[in-house]
Amino acid sequence: MSVKPEDFFKNIISHSKEYGYIFQSSEIYDGLSAVYDYGQNGAELKKNIREYWWKAMVQLHDNIVGIDAAIFMHPTVWKASGHVDAFNDPLIDNKDSKKRYRADVLIEEHVAKIEDKIKKEVEKAAKRFENFDEAMFRSTNARVVEYQNKINEINNRFKTALNENNLAEVRQIIIDCEIVCPISGSRNWTDVRQFNLMFSTAMGSVSEEASTIYLRPETAQGIFVNYLNVQKTGRMKIPFGIAQTGKAFRNEIVARQFIFRMREFEQMEMQFFVKPGTENHWYDYWKENRLKWHLSLGLGKENYKYHDHLKLAHYAKAACDIEFQFPFGFKELEGIHSRSDFDLKQHEEHSGKKLQYFDVEENKSYVPYVVETSVGLDRLFLSILSAAYKEELLENGETRVVLSLPPALAPTKVAIFPLVKKDGLPELAEKIVSKLKFDFNVAYDEKDTVGKRYRRQDAIGTPYCITVDHQSLEDNCVTIRNRDTMQQERINIDALHAYLEDRVTLKSLLKQL
Ligand code: ATP
Repeated sequence: MSVKPEDFFKNIISHSKEYGYIFQSSEIYDGLSAVYDYGQNGAELKKNIREYWWKAMVQLHDNIVGIDAAIFMHPTVWKASGHVDAFNDPLIDNKDSKKRYRADVLIEEHVAKIEDKIKKEVEKAAKRFENFDEAMFRSTNARVVEYQNKINEINNRFKTALNENNLAEVRQIIIDCEIVCPISGSRNWTDVRQFNLMFSTAMGSVSEEASTIYLRPETAQGIFVNYLNVQKTGRMKIPFGIAQTGKAFRNEIVARQFIFRMREFEQMEMQFFVKPGTENHWYDYWKENRLKWHLSLGLGKENYKYHDHLKLAHYAKAACDIEFQFPFGFKELEGIHSRSDFDLKQHEEHSGKKLQYFDVEENKSYVPYVVETSVGLDRLFLSILSAAYKEELLENGETRVVLSLPPALAPTKVAIFPLVKKDGLPELAEKIVSKLKFDFNVAYDEKDTVGKRYRRQDAIGTPYCITVDHQSLEDNCVTIRNRDTMQQERINIDALHAYLEDRVTLKSLLKQL
């Protein structure tokens, strides 16, 4: 069915509330901006995504181990990491609407619009391919070249401005590109200012003795400060990785787009410690490995692309994002960064402790280089939800809303229905539930017609429904229905476990890696 993109995204948001996936935080008090709670189905889906990432990273790599560091850390950690001095976003206000924006995002969105124009020109030309003459070709080509030059010019100016921390120039780019505020439509912009994104609080009961501590803005530092603990106690040999999932907090300036940008969110990060000089090899390895992991979810290859960073942090060797096509366009889903020895060296300097590795083969000590992979669990959740959500027009004219979630990640794997609430059918259905519930998340439903029960499970994303009918009492077989194809087949009750194991377990995903 064709729905306008903005309506489509709104429909996803209301669907995720209606079916217990995501609620606005503190909703009965009118909510807290950019903070969300996961409901009964959301919590399951999130847990399954986290578990898939963890197994793919820790269980499938014998040189990666996982830890769980605290959210609170010594305040000097954030001095050493650079977050106290430089964890800023450039913000700009529109004087008419009083709305606040990230200056870099305004420019990036402007560039994306020009890229769209190029795409449209090319599509138009392809459509007219048969009666396309030379004059048309020349004018299309000229327009594409003009747009591309514009993009290059903006990107170059922007890159230089960021590298020189020239905020006046960032503002000038916004003015020169004639970017308007989407709310007021005006170009009445303030200066660009830097804004620190860390939340702070006080630790200690007596105010004079209390010290300022921060809610961690990333999980990575918990790994860096534990590098030596893990390396020594785990007797890890380079190259090796440390993985972690956990909450992070950022006081985002622009907190829109649902769970895409939150003030409290969850990250899944892995720091891979390597011998200096081998970082390019491992950077390429992790770029490829992480894209493969995303593709294994089956949401469509065309929905992912790499985006190399324009601006590199001074310590960074290379950085790229894996972008996903969200309902509002291609945006960052995961970052892969080659961070040199910057973090460990900073912590050596600020703590006075050596954070090195003794390489037996080389017979010398060095500070390892780091390649990191960093993905937001909530963003991943949104990518999966938005690719899975479908409004289908059926042959009989009815609309079906279905969440085609990867079966291994679905909150409920199978729903079991007795056709009617009598004649011993509920008892047989309950027996099947008891057989399956130790290995799979199972739902039992006996209310309403089977058709309605199917619709409810489709909307939640349950990949299989099993119906027990009168025939089942005689032949020990049930009907199993596939959520996506709506095809039904008869299957012996004793074969159900194996059937599901092949299709809905994390193992079925992990085998593809
Ligand atoms: P962005 O440019 O979108 O602000 P970032 O480059 O600051 O993101 P990183 O610091 O590289 O992000 O964090 C790694 C990952 O953490 C991101 O790829 C994203 O998936 C996730 N992430 C970062 N900030 C948020 C947020 N505010 N809400 C949800 N997820 C986030």
